[in-house]
Amino acid sequence: MYDVAIIGAGPAGASAALFTAKAGKQTVVIDNGQSVTRRAWIENHYGVMEITGPDLVDTGIKQAEKFGANFVQGQAKNVVKTGNGFKVETDQGEYEAAHVIIATGMWADLAEQSGINTKPGTEPRVKTIIDVDSQGQTNVEGIWAAGTVAGVSMHTIITAGDGAKVAINIISKMNGERYVDHDVKK
Ligand SMILES: Cc1cc2nc3c(=O)[nH]c(=O)nc-3n(C[C@H](O)[C@H](O)[C@H](O)COP(=O)(O)OP(=O)(O)OC[C@H]3O[C@@H](n4cnc5c(N)ncnc54)[C@H](O)[C@@H]3O)c2cc1C
Repeated sequence: MYDVAIIGAGPAGASAALFTAKAGKQTVVIDNGQSVTRRAWIENHYGVMEITGPDLVDTGIKQAEKFGANFVQGQAKNVVKTGNGFKVETDQGEYEAAHVIIATGMWADLAEQSGINTKPGTEPRVKTIIDVDSQGQTNVEGIWAAGTVAGVSMHTIITAGDGAKVAINIISKMNGERYVDHDVKK
């Protein structure tokens, strides 16, 4: 049983995993390797002069793995409520978690499949998004959404930021107080 299961290892999902794993939360990330970010050349990500999409995505995964996040290949097919959380059904097996973050980029089909409210997208080329509140919470308590699929502007600094925001809201909820993750320069 994980604390957090994240679907999608793009900037939104991996950034969320970095925060939840670094906060000591048992984290699994399920991804089927279709990130649109892998087609990008990026010169507008604050703090990084220039980077290829694949390098940004791979670095994000390494950062989260460094703190214990478990990345698995697979296509998530359904998210089902259970007695003490949720079961994520994939083509490679099932994962149980107390909280789920859907960070599936331009794909909202998993959310629709799982009975989560969606609505028309407002960003260019984004057809359907998940209906979330300002915290990133969906209509199903315990299921959250982040990044492009949550309707934010489709830019890596913003989708990664949204993933971090939602992760901090989940960690704060689990800890019962607002969470801050600051390291001090040695
Ligand atoms: C050609 C191109 C150029 C771009 N250039 C820039 C740029 O210069 N600067 C910039 O800021 N942004 C750029 N972007 C946009 C940037 O890539 C995206 O905005 C953004 O970062 C998307 O992040 P995300 O995590 O929301 O989605 P993605 O990065 O798309 O991640 C979603 C992940 O979820 C996985 N997934 C989806 N459904 C499932 C499922 N059911 N089961 C398992 N896994 C699933 C996908 O495989 C994918 O890995 C560009 C995009 C493109 C396409």
